[in-house]
Amino acid sequence: MIAASARRPIPHHRRMQFHPVEVRRRCTDLGGVARTAELAAIGIDEHSLKMAVLGGEIIRIREGVYGAADAPHDVIAAVAHGGRLGCLSRIRAAGLWVLDRNDVRVHVSMPRTGNARRHVDCRCVTHWTGGPAVGGFAPLVESLAQVLQCFGIEDFFVALESAMSKRLLNHRSLHELGGRLPRMHRWLVGFARWDAGSGLESVLRLRLRALGISLVSQVEIPGAGRVDFVLAGLIVLEVDGIVGHADLASSRHKDLVRDAVASTYGLEALRFDYAMVVHDWPLVEAAILAALDRSRRRRSR
Ligand SMILES: [Zn+2]
Ligand SMILES: [Zn+2]
Repeated sequence: MIAASARRPIPHHRRMQFHPVEVRRRCTDLGGVARTAELAAIGIDEHSLKMAVLGGEIIRIREGVYGAADAPHDVIAAVAHGGRLGCLSRIRAAGLWVLDRNDVRVHVSMPRTGNARRHVDCRCVTHWTGGPAVGGFAPLVESLAQVLQCFGIEDFFVALESAMSKRLLNHRSLHELGGRLPRMHRWLVGFARWDAGSGLESVLRLRLRALGISLVSQVEIPGAGRVDFVLAGLIVLEVDGIVGHADLASSRHKDLVRDAVASTYGLEALRFDYAMVVHDWPLVEAAILAALDRSRRRRSR
């Protein structure tokens, strides 16, 4: 009955009293944050709202906007600021891969004609590129475009491939995303793949592209098992610390066997860890280029 009546506002005389816990549940069902009008539309009267606030089940974030008491802090902050959770904060909340950034700010997607509000403990970054502030979370496409603007192409690309791998985007939303990006960056959407296995893979593919080097991930080499990456068909690249690598003696042994077998195929094996790839790229790049050079010389002899 409630689902059917949710389509149009319920008249005042038909609104009911709800237990405070039930009010919080309904608020959570609406995404953790709800406007008075949305709550009224499912029959919750003002008295029930007051009682739920007094009972600590919901909080009044600002005039006419309530949040479930257990909604994430950054969502509450974004709504108190006058918008919705956007940019990298939204990407994190969706459980997508992000580069290791020490960023504790709340990124807020604001309606273009909205007003930023003062609130307690405001550490917000305001993006004036959002749609109407309904609910607590900005749409993913809106947030991805903000990540590009705020953090640059690598953070954007990692988040994009992560969203694609989890099928949180489709061809239509990718098209919409392309339309939101500056023309010079639209190629990133076409270059992104649906099958990236980790954020590290996304970073590697993007950085190697700049060097004109192709990357294939999760390659099966007979006798060696599956290796993380093969570059330009010549170099096996293994990265310690990515999913599936355990720091055990047996794992170390398997790594050594893999390197030896790769060598018998004429493939040079390189091994780095996550921190080297992400934070010490010049060294990693120099090692890759030198290994490629050696491999190509050997083959041309
Ligand atoms: Zn704020
Ligand atoms: Zn941002």
